[in-house]
Amino acid sequence: MRVESLDEVLGPSGPIARSHPNYEFRPGQIEMAKAIETAIAERRHLAVEAGTGTGKTLAYLLPCLASRKRVVISTGTKNLQEQLFFRDIPFLERALERKLSVCYMKGRSNYLCLKKLAEIDEVGYLFSRHDPAHLERIRSWARGTESGDRAELAELPEDLPLWGRLDARRETCTGQKCRDWDACFVTQMRKRALESDIVIVNHHLFFADLALRQGDFGSVLPDYSVVVFDEAHELEDVATQYFGVMVSNYRIEELVRDAERALGEGEAASPFLSEQLARLAVRAGDFFGRFRAREGKSRLEELRASSEVRRAPAGRDDIGAPYRELVSGLGVVEAGFANLSIQSDAIQAVTRRAGELRTQLGEIFESESAECVYWFEARGGRGVFLWASPILVAPVLRERLFDRVDTAILTSATLATGGNFRFIRSRLGLEQADELVLGSHFDFREQAIFYVPRDIPEPRDERWAPRACLEIERILEASRGRAFVLFTSYAQMELVYGSLKGRLPYPMLVQGQKSKTGLLEEFRATPNSVLFATASFWQGVDVAGEQLSCV
Ligand code: SF4
Repeated sequence: MRVESLDEVLGPSGPIARSHPNYEFRPGQIEMAKAIETAIAERRHLAVEAGTGTGKTLAYLLPCLASRKRVVISTGTKNLQEQLFFRDIPFLERALERKLSVCYMKGRSNYLCLKKLAEIDEVGYLFSRHDPAHLERIRSWARGTESGDRAELAELPEDLPLWGRLDARRETCTGQKCRDWDACFVTQMRKRALESDIVIVNHHLFFADLALRQGDFGSVLPDYSVVVFDEAHELEDVATQYFGVMVSNYRIEELVRDAERALGEGEAASPFLSEQLARLAVRAGDFFGRFRAREGKSRLEELRASSEVRRAPAGRDDIGAPYRELVSGLGVVEAGFANLSIQSDAIQAVTRRAGELRTQLGEIFESESAECVYWFEARGGRGVFLWASPILVAPVLRERLFDRVDTAILTSATLATGGNFRFIRSRLGLEQADELVLGSHFDFREQAIFYVPRDIPEPRDERWAPRACLEIERILEASRGRAFVLFTSYAQMELVYGSLKGRLPYPMLVQGQKSKTGLLEEFRATPNSVLFATASFWQGVDVAGEQLSCV
């Protein structure tokens, strides 16, 4: 596509205008598309702030499609990924009257593992009385689905424990030795990606892949020369997670569960190791229990150099002994599995994972690095996540990303600071890049109301919930429902949803009831509905028209 043809395609008499019922001419969109086309042709990086309503999705899709290069498009959330693939791409195919070579990839745990599905009855799976019905639904879906992506099962609750027994995560995959390897949805997903010009991913998968490219397990994404980051203001946070180290109680619980299962397979039974696994579970419970006193994120405090561990939660310098017990328990499991006479893939995977957990706990509690921050998060009275996060991701990103790809396009509605990109570029290690700032297409003074309630207490204050509920009720009355009520934590969301349930004359939806796609579909289809949700609905969600009038 030549530069003029972007004008034609996006202009008032082009195919987009003819196909889109609400088409508006957006000069900023054409400017952005041309800047991207130039950046790709000249192998340069580009940062674009595109205010709301610019139409940035088409502005990057069109030059990427025309480039004839393999392009990875990385979005902030899975919702946005799905909107691109299931809505924007089909729209473009209709408008341009041709089939486009595009696919999407998500993290492995979104996909069904065929081997686990075939074996689930032997393993046992009952978590709730609804599980047999869920399993039946999954089985019948598995017979027809092409993608194996659980998002197609709109009615499946988001945090269904049963899914954890069926997903295709790396830790439990036996790879090419699996009898279902060829039919496997992950194998198929990779094959599609290799054959596609555009691969749509999310930032989590992108950075998980970038971190893996250096490691022992190879990459997930096919090679690419251009990458587009939508919602690029989130890159630093997500990259920090993947270039850091995290150990949670869930990882150890899963290890114990998978290890028991591996022992149960074939001739590997070992009463000694079964007992060691039971001990490990108890030790993990004791150790992680010491981090639960305070909900949310907290720093790990540095201890005296003579202590058994270098750092601990504030006021808990008693974690040294349980830490040693946990680490030695992992060591016993690692050595025990390594020495079993039968070395199945599952047994070897347990050895590797126990070793990884031991090393990573050491990095969090014993290392001397001044380049990391050490912290933990307690979530919902159940999950504890321990972290060592790099303070700066810029050097890693410069070396592994920006110096290696021909073109990186960073775009978002909020990327510049004071009209320039110095801050974000320094945080990300993006030394050379073209820059473009495009104002919003909308007139906010005329078209929007921004309202800040003045007398709501801090969220930690116990008066917060009743006051917030009253305020939300008043606002929803004014908007006649048609709203998203969004929170920074699940706990807040559930508290407010629970208090307002039955008090509002509008249909109420809450995150977790169904898959995200399922919730959005129901929201769009139900007049005056109100959706209560957390971070994944904060951005990249598109509900056109008055159905969503208030956030
Ligand atoms: S290859 Fe791995 S993920 Fe795929 S079906 Fe087999 S075990 Fe499951």
